[in-house]
Amino acid sequence: MATTTATTRGSTPAVHRPRPDHLDSKLAYLTRVLKTPTIGRVWQDLADTARDANWSHEEYLTAVLERQVADRESAGNMMRVRTAHFPAIKTLDDFNLDHLPSLRKDVLAHLATATFVPKADNVVLLGPPGIGKTHLAIGLGIKAAQAGNSVLFDTATNWITRLSRAHHAGALEAELKKIRRYRLIIIDEVGYIPFDTDAANLFFQLVASRYEQASILVTSNLPFGRWGEVFGDEVVAAAMIDRLVHHAEVLTLAGDSYRTKARRELLAKDRNK
Ligand code: ADP
Ligand code: MG
Repeated sequence: MATTTATTRGSTPAVHRPRPDHLDSKLAYLTRVLKTPTIGRVWQDLADTARDANWSHEEYLTAVLERQVADRESAGNMMRVRTAHFPAIKTLDDFNLDHLPSLRKDVLAHLATATFVPKADNVVLLGPPGIGKTHLAIGLGIKAAQAGNSVLFDTATNWITRLSRAHHAGALEAELKKIRRYRLIIIDEVGYIPFDTDAANLFFQLVASRYEQASILVTSNLPFGRWGEVFGDEVVAAAMIDRLVHHAEVLTLAGDSYRTKARRELLAKDRNK
């Protein structure tokens, strides 16, 4: 093996130092077989850098592998964000914290680290329409996906539709198991539409099936005290809330709707014209 390596140390700098053709094609072949396209792309440039900077073989190998791993991780992150089915891409960076003095910034910063997901903890965002619940849910979901967790977003109504289809097909358990493969599910808009008894029971089963095993992030326009109205049954609602909040961060958001605020500002601008 050593005989095939040309010694180029000390030669004049060039874009790429000359090396035997067969080495290029061999490396192209090897990186293809290993499915490491990044290595195929960067090994030459890094080899030149390594010679110029007198890197050890170990340092060179580490640099090459690091580039491959970084590319693979970022491709994985992009894929996880895509497959989470967020209704829009809203990031925490885009979220104006000044508008929401009621939001505990330290708690949000902690949730943004996504460490709640491997612990199977939950997050509940409560507050009136337009306050930013869905935005925050997506922003936190993206953070969780970028931390390597599989995430799936849907509205409460759509989750129920999915579960009742499975239930009618006699495959509810299998469906719940499938959903458990997602480390974090986001259930948006609990409370906008009341559930009938079947839907309430399915929702309860969804929450129960993930208890201490996988995370849920729920948003609702209603405080817990009114969930009995949504689920048509105080007992079911209480049992579900118990499981949901046992290991959870509950953020209650208060203030003006961001949508209304944007509209007010537009109107004010119009009046001042
Ligand atoms: P909710 O789900 O609580 O009804 P949304 O998250 O849908 O509210 O917010 C309504 C709109 O206002 C969205 O377009 C959202 O991106 C935006 N928005 C809400 N709060 C903020 C904020 N603090 N900073 C930036 N945009 C916000
Ligand atoms: Mg919303």
